[in-house]
Amino acid sequence: MIFYKTDQEIELIRQSCLMVGKTHEAIVPFIKPGVKTLRLDEIAEEYIRDQGAVPGFKGYNGFPYTLCISMNEEVVHGMPSEREIQPGDLLSIDCGVLANGFYGDQAYTYCVGEVEPEVKQLLQVTKASLYAGIEHAVIGKRIGDICYAIQDMCERQHRYGVVRELVGHGIGRNLHESPDVPNYGRRGRGIKLQKGLVIAIEPMVNLGRKEIRQLDDGWTIIARDRKPSAHYEHTITVGKEKADILTTFDYLEEAIKSNAELTEID
Ligand code: MG
Ligand code: MG
Repeated sequence: MIFYKTDQEIELIRQSCLMVGKTHEAIVPFIKPGVKTLRLDEIAEEYIRDQGAVPGFKGYNGFPYTLCISMNEEVVHGMPSEREIQPGDLLSIDCGVLANGFYGDQAYTYCVGEVEPEVKQLLQVTKASLYAGIEHAVIGKRIGDICYAIQDMCERQHRYGVVRELVGHGIGRNLHESPDVPNYGRRGRGIKLQKGLVIAIEPMVNLGRKEIRQLDDGWTIIARDRKPSAHYEHTITVGKEKADILTTFDYLEEAIKSNAELTEID
């Protein structure tokens, strides 16, 4: 069942989403070689709790951390650890916040120092595909229009592997609600987009093949061929002429500019 949101509920979700963006902003100065990924998690949790909010992922299905930090060939659901960040690492950082009874959810792949041009392009295209999908998040269109736009850009135009097993989702009082928002699909298929629909759109895209597997920790998903993977996510609500993007990359991208260890992804 899909829970369509009132305007008032959407404003509450926007507040949670803003907090997620600000949490990303708070950790960006610490994303640099030599820093343990667990440190990023501590900073994020402290920031969220200081706002009087609750980390959305911590305890969700037993996940023990505030952030999912997935490095290099890790796709999603990576666990913060004692592992130190190295030059050339990719960090896909996913964060959820619960405030006023509503969740916000956002992910961004950070690039530490120099990487191969093909890896940088993977990040650029994955991010662009997120916006290509959002362009179709318009009332009267169908969910499949979003799915198709992402898949078309990543697979047909760039020959990347779009992960099938993990998908975007409705979001609101629950972190994951109906409907599923796959990053692949057919135009004109699926539910019709109606006012009040709030969804997280989140392409997970592999430089190599689309197949994944889960590590023995029970969480971390990696690309089976161990090639790099990218993940960008916005929480949005559908609009009459265009979507209303409730999360924002503005704060974290400003922060990236001030961190000489990070490479900007345009
Ligand atoms: Mg997320
Ligand atoms: Mg999500």
